Amino acid sequence: MAKQQFEAESRRLLDMMINSIYSKREVFLRELISNASDAIDKMYYRALTDDSITFNQSDYYIKIDVNKDERELTVQDTGIGMTKEELESNLGVIAKSGSLAFKKENEIKDGYDIIGQFGVGFYAAFMVADEVTVISRALGSEQAYRWHSEGADGFTIEDAEKDSIGTTITLKVKESSEDDDFDQFLDEQQLQQIVKKYSDFIRYPIKMELTEEQLKADSDDEYETVVEEKTVNSMVPIWKKNKTELTDEDYHEFYKEKHYGFDDPLTHVHLSVDGNIRYQAILYIPESAPYNYYSQEYEKGLELYSNGVLIMNKAPELLPDYFSFVKGLVDSEDLSLNISREMLQHDRQLKLIEKNLVKKIKQELKKLLMNDREKYETFFKAFGRQLKYGVYSDFGQNKDTLKDLLLFYSSTEETLVTLQEYVDRMKEDQTIIYYATGESHARIENLPQTEMVKDKGFEILYLTDDIDEFALKMLQEYEGKTFKSVSSGDLELGDDDETNAPEVTDEDQKIFDKMKEQLSGKVSDVRPSKRLKTHPVCLTNEGDISIEMEKVLSMMPE
Ligand code: ADP
Ligand code: MG
Repeated sequence: MAKQQFEAESRRLLDMMINSIYSKREVFLRELISNASDAIDKMYYRALTDDSITFNQSDYYIKIDVNKDERELTVQDTGIGMTKEELESNLGVIAKSGSLAFKKENEIKDGYDIIGQFGVGFYAAFMVADEVTVISRALGSEQAYRWHSEGADGFTIEDAEKDSIGTTITLKVKESSEDDDFDQFLDEQQLQQIVKKYSDFIRYPIKMELTEEQLKADSDDEYETVVEEKTVNSMVPIWKKNKTELTDEDYHEFYKEKHYGFDDPLTHVHLSVDGNIRYQAILYIPESAPYNYYSQEYEKGLELYSNGVLIMNKAPELLPDYFSFVKGLVDSEDLSLNISREMLQHDRQLKLIEKNLVKKIKQELKKLLMNDREKYETFFKAFGRQLKYGVYSDFGQNKDTLKDLLLFYSSTEETLVTLQEYVDRMKEDQTIIYYATGESHARIENLPQTEMVKDKGFEILYLTDDIDEFALKMLQEYEGKTFKSVSSGDLELGDDDETNAPEVTDEDQKIFDKMKEQLSGKVSDVRPSKRLKTHPVCLTNEGDISIEMEKVLSMMPE
C-alpha cells in the first residue's frame, strides 16, 4: 500500500509540535477527548437539524481502554466519525481543522460547542506514541477506514470494518526510558487522574474499566479483584461548581482546554447570580492581545449556554466593544434553547446580563489596579488602547465606566498614572489637567512647550498613543478639571499668559513679519512668547485641536 506523505509544512510542524507546543505530555489525552466530545456534539447538532436522526443521550460516550501487554491505549467515541476523505484531510494536514470547516460549512460560527479550531490537537498523540491508528466510520456510511501513521514519515489509509458509527484511536505507547516515563499512560489510576484534571466537565461520560479490590459479597474481611466500568468525569461543568472547590489551576486549565488563547489568563471572575435573571459566568482577562486583536478580523463574544447546553459559540451581545478582550462563557437557565440570533439581539434578559457583566468586569479591573499594579499595567499595555477607543466612541455611559481605568505617562512618574492620581496631587488652585502629545516620552520631554509648564511645578500627562488625546477630548473633564494641551495658545498660567508677552518693537515686528512671510501657509502668526526658557522657538495652536491630533486626522481616510 502506498504511503502518503504528510504535507511538507506538516512534517516540520509535527516535529516542532511534538517537541514544543505542549509543555506537558499528558495533555495529549485532553486533546483526544475534546476531539471525541466535538464529534459527539456534531452528531447532536445533526440530530437537531435532521429529523431522521434521533439523539439518545445514553448512546453517546467516550471510552478509554488500556492493553498493558501490547502497550496500547485506546480512546473511542460514538461521535459523527470521519469519511475516507476526512481522515485524509483532517489528519493528513496539520493545522487543518475539520471542526473549523464544519462550523463554516454549516454557517454556525456561533454554533455548537466545538472546541477544536486550531487543527493541531490530534498530533499531540505523537508525544507519547510511536504509532497511531484511527479506525472511523462516518455517519451515513457502511464502510469504515483505518488510518495509520508512525510519525513524521506519513500515513496510510485502508478499508476496515466497524460495527457502529464513531471513531477509535489507538496509540502504541512509547517505551519508557530512564528520563521518560511513558508507562504512566498505561496505568489506569494515572489516566483517571489525567482525565479528572483536564476533562472533568466534558458533558459526555468518559468511561474506563477500573480494577478494584472489593469486599466479597458474603464476607466482611475477604476481598476480590473486580473490573468495573466507571464514568470517571463528573460531567459537571466547571462554572456550575462552587468557587471554593476550585483552584487557580483549574481555571487556567479550563482556559487552555477551551482554547481561549495561547497565553495564560491574567485573572478571572466566576459569577453565580441569583437575582432577576439567574446565570453563571466565568470571565477571563487575557494576559496578551491575540495577534489579530486590533483588526477587523477579531470577533468578540462569550460562549452562551442554556442550562449546560451550548447555544452559541460567540455571542457578541454579551460584551461591549471596549471589553471585547474578555473571554469566557455565560450559562443561564432562563434562556430558551432555540433562541435565534435575531432574537438574541433584542433579548431583554441578555441585555441585563451584559449590563451586569460590564459592572463585574470593571470591578475586577479596578481591583487589579488597586491591588496589583504590575499586573494591571500588563493588562493595560495589551488592552488599554481598546479602553481609550471606548471612551472616544462614547455616546452613552462608557466614559463613566472607563475613566478610572485609564493610565497615562506623566512628567512626574516613571510609571503610568491614573487621572485620579494626577488630580490628587494637583497644586492648590490648579484647575487644569495639562497634557503634551508626542511620539515618545523622550520627544515630549524635549518639547519647548513642556518646559515652562513643568517649571511652574505642574504635572503633565504625556500622551504617546495617538488615541490618547481623542479620548481626553471626549472625556472633557475629570472631577471638574478640564484638559489642556501645553501647546495651546492660552495656558492659563497667570502671569505667563501670552497677553503678558513682552513689548514688541518695530524692529521685532519686522522680523516677525518676515518670518511669517517665509512660513506662509504653514503658520498663521509669529509672535513673541514668555513661555520659552531654553528653547528659542515653539509651535502653539490656536484652536482646540493640537498639532499631533491634526496629524492623526490628516492621516485618516476621508
Ligand atoms: P482541531 O480539533 O483543533 O480541529 P485536531 O488536530 O484536534 O484539530 O483534529 C483535526 C480534525 O480531525 C478535527 O477538526 C476533526 O475534524 C477531526 N477529528 C479528530 N478526531 C476526531 C474524532 N474522534 N471524531 C471525528 N473527527 C475527528
Ligand atoms: Mg482538537
